Amino acid sequence: MKIFLFSFVCYAKTPTFVVLKFIERMEFNFKTILEFNDYFKDEKTCYEFLEKTLWDNVPVCPHCGVVKKPYKVKARGKFQDIPSYRCSDRDCDLPFTVRTGSVFEGSKVELRKWLQAVYELSISNKGISSIELGKRIGVSQKTAWFINHRLRVMLTETLPHKLEGTIEIDETFVGGKNKNRHIGKKVADASDKTPVLGLVQRGGNLKTFVIPDREKETILPIMLANTEPKTNVITDGYTAYNDLSLTHYHTSVKHGEGDYKYITVGLDHTNNIEGVWSILKRGILGTFHSVSRQHLQKYCNEFTFRYNHRKVTPIDRFYRGIKNSRQERIRYKALTSSKQINKNPALETQG
Ligand SMILES: [Zn+2]
Repeated sequence: MKIFLFSFVCYAKTPTFVVLKFIERMEFNFKTILEFNDYFKDEKTCYEFLEKTLWDNVPVCPHCGVVKKPYKVKARGKFQDIPSYRCSDRDCDLPFTVRTGSVFEGSKVELRKWLQAVYELSISNKGISSIELGKRIGVSQKTAWFINHRLRVMLTETLPHKLEGTIEIDETFVGGKNKNRHIGKKVADASDKTPVLGLVQRGGNLKTFVIPDREKETILPIMLANTEPKTNVITDGYTAYNDLSLTHYHTSVKHGEGDYKYITVGLDHTNNIEGVWSILKRGILGTFHSVSRQHLQKYCNEFTFRYNHRKVTPIDRFYRGIKNSRQERIRYKALTSSKQINKNPALETQG
């Protein structure tokens, strides 16, 4: 009864909020890309949408974080409909829009096209190649490639919590030029393939890490940093996993002789993580054809985001992506630099 009264008081206190939320959800229940584009018909609508989603309509200076009401700046020419501000803090005094400090910053591509790209990614199950994305939003393949990479940054979630319950851990090899080779991980020569470590909580989230090698010294710290101690961990018989039994309830699934199948005994299997690898590889082969080692972690992040949001609707995925867009953008130069490598995954807890 107390709970009922509490709920009623909350509801009575915020009826406008509830109604607005309801209307918002109705508005955003797009069934086709046509409906999506009808709604986001011009730049002004897109900026207003982003201001509502990222700021809740209260501008925050991205340079200094001051929430004090900024000055409105009158933009000219084709930018006249775009809400622009200048920070009212005297020490800062810098101009900004809602795009500043997000993955959409510093791009000549209209916000409409960016939002459509996020939507296209949200409704796709395997990701979209830059050629295809370019055609859909009307930009060159090179621009679409750049947009795709920035959006992958947006889809990189920070999952601060450690996985718990029952966790399946496995590593696989992705890439390589020999297309006819068996795609299973137990290949004799994997010198041109990139190892990826995956941890999946049964019924929960996935974490993927591009790793420089499969040595125990490389993978053990990642496993310890991303799993709660004393949880059930299931791996294959690879010796680098042996030390997990010091901190976890470790089950090692025996490898069957003569083929690539594992012997499955009750719940002691690694079928979930094996399934993850199968979808990841098919996605990379089918959509992107090949991915360089340099960019593989970003593709894994995109795939991981999609996996971790598999139970929500595409429009919810779109919302969550946009909510995550306040991130440091990658610059084109950094993306194409040969020095740019995958960040050391052991130091971060990405999703
Ligand atoms: Zn400021």
